Amino acid sequence: MMSTRADRQLCAIRLAQDCAQLGARVRTIHHLTGLNPRDVQRLFFNDPQAIPRGRPPNSLEWYHGANLIARAESSIFMSMYRRLRNTGFGAAETLVSAYRGYQAVCQCPHRISFDRAFDLASHTDGIWLTSTPVFEVLACPTCGSDVLMAIGTVVHLGDNCPFCKLVQRYSCDPRLQASFPKNGMATAPATTP
Ligand SMILES: [Zn+2]
Repeated sequence: MMSTRADRQLCAIRLAQDCAQLGARVRTIHHLTGLNPRDVQRLFFNDPQAIPRGRPPNSLEWYHGANLIARAESSIFMSMYRRLRNTGFGAAETLVSAYRGYQAVCQCPHRISFDRAFDLASHTDGIWLTSTPVFEVLACPTCGSDVLMAIGTVVHLGDNCPFCKLVQRYSCDPRLQASFPKNGMATAPATTP
């Protein structure tokens, strides 16, 4: 049966609600659902003080200068996103599911906000914010983890791989131990096929 306009509108509102609960800003919800920003604000942000403000994340420069934990968490999120997308799910629903998966696997505080995840996925798939992909998800030849890289990066022997570095530094870095506790380490990278 053909979906009606009402069906599509309801789907967009449900999706917008999921995004708002995950902390998305109005602009992100607008890009993902096509809903008018004014409607998004009216429907999901009753308290004007609670509207996320400030510049939205831009990951082009950020990712390459980000610390090890942020790069590892970005890669974990994008690995989940890539796998779901490859099974044929739509981009927006994949973003929501992969973000929930990322929150379930990584410890608080989460370094990757929903808006950041949206920005990373945009620049990897060449959708929403840009038509030009600049990132791709590659398998590290040393540890087998899926790693987010600039397109065209030749990965050899674990250089640039946040998971290889994490394993090297783990025993002497309490910050890493807190972010990726040992019993979670088996599942955290979750990237070995
Ligand atoms: Zn590696």
